[in-house]
Amino acid sequence: MISDSLFHGRTIFSFEVFPPKRSAPIDTIYRTLDGLQGLHPDFISVTYGAAGNGNTASTVQIASAIQRQYGIESVAHLPCLYLSHKQAASMVSEFQENGIQNILALRGDVVPDLQPQGDFPHASALVSFLKQAGNFHILAACYPEVHPEAPDMKTDIRHLKEKTDAGASHLITQLFLDNTYFYSFLKRVRAAGITAPVEAGIMPVINKKQIQRMVSLCGASLPEKFRTMMDRYGDNPEAMQDAGIAYAVDQIVDLVSHGVDGIHLYTMNNPLVARRICKATATLFKN
Ligand code: FAD
Repeated sequence: MISDSLFHGRTIFSFEVFPPKRSAPIDTIYRTLDGLQGLHPDFISVTYGAAGNGNTASTVQIASAIQRQYGIESVAHLPCLYLSHKQAASMVSEFQENGIQNILALRGDVVPDLQPQGDFPHASALVSFLKQAGNFHILAACYPEVHPEAPDMKTDIRHLKEKTDAGASHLITQLFLDNTYFYSFLKRVRAAGITAPVEAGIMPVINKKQIQRMVSLCGASLPEKFRTMMDRYGDNPEAMQDAGIAYAVDQIVDLVSHGVDGIHLYTMNNPLVARRICKATATLFKN
């Protein structure tokens, strides 16, 4: 299990991967994990489709393989909006049977035309449920640019505090491209009395399509420096990859210099990009 002592005195480094689409063979994820070997992240988290999307089994299977076959701590994501208490209890048993002790408790995105179960309207309800259900290290999500449905930052941070009060002891942010949002968010989080470590979510943007999807999904703002880079290199895939990696490395150097608790790299299942970022930043995490 991820121990609270993990954060003592150093910046941690973690990865996120996602299960292959239902149409793709499960083995493709093992190629990604093979490609990440040797990078020694503190943990790897595995996403889970908001409405299940048929990949429940693969999230558990992959999280379990990360621990058992690759010897790396894993975190299983669990969105709850479309889960009943009964289904959540059965997920808990599945986690326990597979040795999964770290869970990122999420509400999940709203899926149009799908009726929520009503048992877990917010992630805080799942955090409370998991706290009662077993001995888990519980993580939760947070939003340096405010969750898109929240009326304002103050309200959103009040709801974040409900998650930590309920038992989430480790936070990971939504991706952001401007570190100033993160620093001002962190100040407000600490002022609200939230003491849990906050890992900064960093996504290397290596193609134009990715950024359009990203903005529509999470509303991350695009700083001038980033827009200029996109304008210059967006239509040149090789240069865009180099520029996107350099941009992410620059964000990480600045965050680690400022003493961030951790960096959570959204790998997009691309081990080559993760390797280049790790190579460029490895010594930063040594102290
Ligand atoms: P919550 O904490 O429930 O917050 C959602 C909204 O409800 C916020 O606006 C909040 O202010 C508000 N709220 C909270 N409590 C209350 C209350 N008591 N009363 C009124 N309003 C309230 N999605 C997936 O489907 N699968 C994944 O694997 C996944 N992984 C993610 C990983 C990270 C690191 C992040 C940052 C997000 C991830 N998401 C994932 C997306 C996430 O599910 C969405 O952002 C979702 O819209 C909100 O989830 P949450 O857990 O933050 O929700």
